[in-house]
Amino acid sequence: MNIVSKLPDVGVTIFTVMSQLATDHHAINLGQGFPDFNTDKALLDAVYEAMLQGYNQYSPMSGHPLLKKAITEKTQLLYGAYYDPQTEVTVTSGASEALMSSILAFVHPNDEVVVIEPFYDLYLPVIQLAGGVAVPVSMEAPRSPEQSFSIDWDKVEKAITNKTRMLIINTPHNPTGAILKSEDLDALEKIVANWDILILSDEVYEHLVFDGAKHLSMATRPALKKNSIIVSSFGKTFSATGWKVGYCLAPPALNTEIQKIHQFSVFSVPTPLQVGLARYMADANTYLDLPNFYQQKRDQLYQGLRNTPFTPYQSEGTFFLLASYEGWSDKSELEFSKWLTTEYSVGVIPVSAFYRNPESKEANQNLIRFCFAKQEQTLATALERLPKK
Ligand code: PMP
Ligand code: GLN
Repeated sequence: MNIVSKLPDVGVTIFTVMSQLATDHHAINLGQGFPDFNTDKALLDAVYEAMLQGYNQYSPMSGHPLLKKAITEKTQLLYGAYYDPQTEVTVTSGASEALMSSILAFVHPNDEVVVIEPFYDLYLPVIQLAGGVAVPVSMEAPRSPEQSFSIDWDKVEKAITNKTRMLIINTPHNPTGAILKSEDLDALEKIVANWDILILSDEVYEHLVFDGAKHLSMATRPALKKNSIIVSSFGKTFSATGWKVGYCLAPPALNTEIQKIHQFSVFSVPTPLQVGLARYMADANTYLDLPNFYQQKRDQLYQGLRNTPFTPYQSEGTFFLLASYEGWSDKSELEFSKWLTTEYSVGVIPVSAFYRNPESKEANQNLIRFCFAKQEQTLATALERLPKK
């Protein structure tokens, strides 16, 4: 049979490739983003309890009412924004499905979608599946490792045309660890006032923001909220990446369209997980304590890397930090990442993988990404394995 691929250029994701390499070489995997510690026992108990109580059949298509209510309460508490659990919330199979359903729902053939580069690997193939055209806009690299990557909003606005349907943003940002500031949201407000576009806001790391900073959700600004689909993930928040439970928030007219895709690709998400999550997050400390918990890990890795030939970059959010190997090796980022995994048994991710052309010169800035969602001992052992300065 003659198979005509819809995604001819898509291979296996960098996360799978690097995790496999790490396993093959008994390396400590600081590549793919997942915690190496278990999910809180109280959450596991809540899910088990829900199973014993009989919450084992289909949930309503849009999500279990208990979880939708818990999500809207959290959003109200943190961002002062109200979403109606009946009409503005969809519980999805991870953030991935929320992103996919949103892009498929609104991007028509030949529509343009502006994406900020470097970007999470899912966005491009899904835009392609929808028949859309991705228009990448590069972030500005920091002038020193103490600063963070930033977005030049004039460049973003120049990339927008009458064909632009959507702008995808991600804050806190994977892989750079940058977070959007109040000035960024001001600039976005101006763009949204000038152009009729949707914002798809990937906020999966909303609870992982450091140094006393606040996550600035699109929900915090009414002018942005009305045009935004906000996506989050319990996998990141509650150290359960394997559960694949996420959600999106959007005004009713948008949510209706998203659910048209969701109901036929997934229909509903595992019920005991939803009920367990809802009961667990009734205690706000389950997510309010996270910045502190992760900041210690970030600092441990950052300080440790300063004693190696790497130059670590500061991370404002997420559970990732970047490090430069400039002056240590001339390899491409992919070659360097593979070499580090096989030679020093520490697995990482090349930042170039988050660019449209990973082999290009622009994508190769001698930067790799470390994940610090690991036990103290894991990070200490990984640091011991790296060469000293
Ligand atoms: N967006 C970003 C920026 C991510 O890092 C991830 C994590 N893989 C996702 C979306 C997908 O999240 P989930 O695992 O809940 O599908
Ligand atoms: N989001 C995770 C990361 O950036 C990976 C998720 C995946 O493997 N698909 O590392």
